[in-house]
Amino acid sequence: MSFVKKTDPELYDALLKETEREAYTLELIPSENLVSEAVLEAQGGVMTNKYAEGYPGKRYYGGCEFVDVAEKLAQDRARQLFKCEHVNVQPHCGTSANIAVYLTVLNFGDTIMGMDLSCGGHLSHGNPLNFSGKFYKIVAYGVTKDKELIDYDQMRQLAREHKPKIIVSGASAYPRIIDFKKIKEIADEVGAYHMADIAHIAGMVATGQHPSPVPYADFVTTTTHKTLRGPRGGMVMCQEKYAKDLDRIVFPGIQGGPLMHVIAAKAVAFKEALSPEFKTYQEQIVKNAKALAQELQQLGLRLVSGGTDNHLMLVDLRSRKITGKEAQIALDKAGLTVNKNTIPYDPEKPFIASGIRLGTPAITSRGMKEKEMIQIARWIDQVLSASQDEAKLNKIRAEVKALCIKFPIYQERLEQ
Ligand SMILES: *Cc1c(COP(=O)(O)O)cnc(C)c1O
Repeated sequence: MSFVKKTDPELYDALLKETEREAYTLELIPSENLVSEAVLEAQGGVMTNKYAEGYPGKRYYGGCEFVDVAEKLAQDRARQLFKCEHVNVQPHCGTSANIAVYLTVLNFGDTIMGMDLSCGGHLSHGNPLNFSGKFYKIVAYGVTKDKELIDYDQMRQLAREHKPKIIVSGASAYPRIIDFKKIKEIADEVGAYHMADIAHIAGMVATGQHPSPVPYADFVTTTTHKTLRGPRGGMVMCQEKYAKDLDRIVFPGIQGGPLMHVIAAKAVAFKEALSPEFKTYQEQIVKNAKALAQELQQLGLRLVSGGTDNHLMLVDLRSRKITGKEAQIALDKAGLTVNKNTIPYDPEKPFIASGIRLGTPAITSRGMKEKEMIQIARWIDQVLSASQDEAKLNKIRAEVKALCIKFPIYQERLEQ
């Protein structure tokens, strides 16, 4: 970082500190990950200089021959990875990908049926604070109170009653397998489109750790930066019959020039995701989540739905007399980065919350396995029982740092 160091010492300082934070603390937020050096290079490279409105071979600017190569590689690899007919790799983020689908098939005022935010859904699936809740009518399905699993009976009943034009599946805080086939059947019964948003689980879908919605959805949207382990961005997959309409909505409909450096990095990440090592990595994410969940349960903590089938879990903190907000702060002091999260039917407001959400993608990227998960669960337990004890939190922070040093993210050494 010698150039930025010289030009902008203030920003350099922030970059250095973020590098250290990532290196010496444990990232347990399930929507985050740590990309490879190759992805960083592509995203930090010269393609940021290029305007490329349009699509490969059909641009509105000259000089696009090499960014065309990048976008075609990203498209070809995404199609291979997810076995989809068509893909648009230009959406700037997961939310933009969802906006693109809504604008492709809905009119303002139409009804969207999505998962309730407090049960694990995403803002862009119809929350009143989000554009999706402002421009469309929203019907929300949730999870059952007893087992805390998606309530497919309620979904069917609500679909029959409200006749949504689209049913959105996928979630941000759901620890179990989603039955995309069943959701497709419900959508077909009422003549609705089915959009599956696999932002969180895309990596596992790519390698078969989670069943794919591609055969059962008109549109599949995703982010590229969560379990897929690519640059921060979004993408939409669809059947060929929607391809033209979708592409026209993404550009010129809702975006201008695509972020070609990000698309280049998507190409690199998809190549990595096609490798046998990536499948092993996704398998380890799931094994690690199971090990972490099991140890937390042995320490007496209740997990929403009783465990996990994927990369994440929700811990119900009420038995420990600590809120999600307080737990997040204490864990942060101990070098364990998590986010507070509501649990289904949470008595607390979202800003306080009764739970925390934990995930294993980033720590698995560092090479950690079941043994480390057991240690991490014990640290979490210790922090929850001593959340006000600064000395204890500092001691754990030092232990966390020692473990992190054994599992470096990047090979190059931190500058002094
Ligand atoms: C993270 C997420 C998104 C949004 O991604 P952004 O890139 O932050 O806009 C969309 N849907 C789901 C289910 C998500 O978890």
